[in-house]
Amino acid sequence: MKKQETYTGIDYFRIIVAFLIVANHTSPLSTYSETADFILTRIIARIAVPFFFMTSGFFLISKYSHNTNKLKTFIKRTTLIYCVAIAIYIPLNIYNKYFTMDNLLPNIVKDIVFDGTLYHLWYLPAAIIGAAIAWFFVKKIGLKWALGITAFLYVVGIFGDSYYGVAEQIPVLKSFYGYLFELFDYTRNGIFFAPVFFVLGGIISNKTIHTSLKNNFIGFAITFSLMIAEGVFLHNLDLQRHDSMYIMLVPCMFFLFSVLTFWKGHRVSTLRTSAMIIYIIHPMMIVAVRMVAKILGLQAFLIDNSLIHFIAVSIVSVTVSILFLILQKHIKVKRRTTSKLDLDRSWIEVDLDNLRHNVDVLQKAMPTDCELMAVIKAEAYGHGSIAVSSCLNQIGIKAFAVATIDEGIELRKYGIQGIILILGYTSPTRAKELHKYDLTQTVIDFNYAVSLNKQGYDIKVHIKIDTGMHRLGFSKNDVLKVVRIFKAKHLNVCGIYTHLCVADSLDTEDVHFTHIQIKTFYALLEELSKKDIKLPKIHIQSSYGLLNYPEIDCDYARIGIALYGILSSYGDETKLKLDLRPVLSLKSQVVLIREINEGESVGYARAFIAKRDSRIAVLPIGYADGFPRNLSCGNGNVLIHGYRVPIIGRICMDQLIVDITDVPNVNIGDTATLIGKDGQAEICVTEVAENVDSITNELLSRMGSRLKIINL
Ligand SMILES: *Cc1c(COP(=O)(O)O)cnc(C)c1O
Repeated sequence: MKKQETYTGIDYFRIIVAFLIVANHTSPLSTYSETADFILTRIIARIAVPFFFMTSGFFLISKYSHNTNKLKTFIKRTTLIYCVAIAIYIPLNIYNKYFTMDNLLPNIVKDIVFDGTLYHLWYLPAAIIGAAIAWFFVKKIGLKWALGITAFLYVVGIFGDSYYGVAEQIPVLKSFYGYLFELFDYTRNGIFFAPVFFVLGGIISNKTIHTSLKNNFIGFAITFSLMIAEGVFLHNLDLQRHDSMYIMLVPCMFFLFSVLTFWKGHRVSTLRTSAMIIYIIHPMMIVAVRMVAKILGLQAFLIDNSLIHFIAVSIVSVTVSILFLILQKHIKVKRRTTSKLDLDRSWIEVDLDNLRHNVDVLQKAMPTDCELMAVIKAEAYGHGSIAVSSCLNQIGIKAFAVATIDEGIELRKYGIQGIILILGYTSPTRAKELHKYDLTQTVIDFNYAVSLNKQGYDIKVHIKIDTGMHRLGFSKNDVLKVVRIFKAKHLNVCGIYTHLCVADSLDTEDVHFTHIQIKTFYALLEELSKKDIKLPKIHIQSSYGLLNYPEIDCDYARIGIALYGILSSYGDETKLKLDLRPVLSLKSQVVLIREINEGESVGYARAFIAKRDSRIAVLPIGYADGFPRNLSCGNGNVLIHGYRVPIIGRICMDQLIVDITDVPNVNIGDTATLIGKDGQAEICVTEVAENVDSITNELLSRMGSRLKIINL
């Protein structure tokens, strides 16, 4: 298993940074040395806020950069947090006589937009404005130019901050900054300070610049030392109006953040929330600690010693954040189990925990160094490709396969990172888009390659080899032609692969055929090596390839159906037996219940005639939702209250009818499960597929676009 992990370093560093911010507001070393405290809180701790900006930029800014949704979500979430933070600090504001200041209204507006309504809250509006500015420039002019512009803004900011003493000497600048300071108190804000760090985060996540861990570390050590020198120097010369912005802070953050990206491991998402809570609540905890100290008469101990004061505030803040996390988890679980889904018709539930579990199980089953390529064509087999691929990206999956160029572009627009391989045909006339969105195209034969190469855009490709399926790919005798693809000017061959056509069967004959396919493929690779071709990434297996031939040791395994926790057909035996869990459930609800008498018919063609007096229920789901019509007339079932009930009559385009005579207490609005579990009972997708003489792959990939998808 190749470790496909996420950025643990970034997660852990959030906590360190949260403590730096607490330090910033409690001055831990001031009892001992003013200089040491200045260095710690006014220079070193200045990495804290840029780090948060870069983290957001890292996940938000993409060189494809068209994903307004991601930006909107970020802004919405940050605004929400900001509103909550403003609200919880209103009592403190009242206590501080905030609302009695002159020109209250303009000042409040100014504080809300730039300076924050309490000293630390400026970060949140700065994050919103900074993200929007960075995003705008990256979209309009690309990462590098955006870096130029935001760096310029930063320089403007510096002369209103640490270098104000210099600007003040020059009359034009002095009056320029005079105007600026009418609008806000500091240049350390969303316009001058934040954007450059968002862009830097984007640059690192898009790997625009390549540097080794060692070089990054050296870079960090140098720029960090220089920043301290810079800060001390400016402080001694008394040039600072404020002390947030240093020249060296920008390169220092770049190297620091790059170093952190090398530390990968498990996701520790609780640390993210925890750091955010510590940041928001610590001023309140400062007040709380002071109050408690006063009440208990412990001022000398808890307040006068700056270090103990810092430690006390930190402990209380961490405790509150842990309590919050526990509470949040509790509420989440409750919401999941008790809330009535407010959905008007029928829906698909996607259990992302099960998806993550399947990834884990599959990765463990793969040979070392083999990477999981998630096949998410056809809306991730009906599960919703955006949610599935974002979830996979978050847990470190960096390779995806789709069927069409438009599926690939959609993912890029949403900011999905890593390689995206198009398994099928793309018209060569769309070469420009392949290039622009950094998609990897399958080369399906020689003429196709020639045509693609002629378009003049540099394109990453994987070469497909036909070893017996006789669908796409070069024949095994085409070695010379394959060699020519490697030499093509505009085609960058990153991979070569084949596809097995009977890997799902363990019959002797089929196993024999598969082995021939595998041998043929490797023989061709050897021919290529002999011709001095450096082999790119190779891959052979899809789900059954992995499950039945786990010993094949490639660079990727293209896993589709198994990722979604199921096999293609009911009763398939596989060599590896993995604990895969179904990800998708299909649900509907009872919208009408009626009684019918013996002898009365139900639905089109009167295909059902009641043999007894019956109670029947109408469910608003039909074949247009992807629920096959072949399941009509008792061929399929649904679960209600844990009972299995038959579908009666013909399934219509938009609804179907079930017999609930034997189920007690069914009410309007009760959930019906068409695929998935209800209590002890379960209807597997494999069973449904079997009932319609198909495979789960077909059934799932046809799940209708009309259904809402709920991600659990
Ligand atoms: C769809 C597809 C896969 C994934 O197949 P599963 O059986 O769903 O794992 C792999 N490779 C190719 C070429 C495909 O078209």
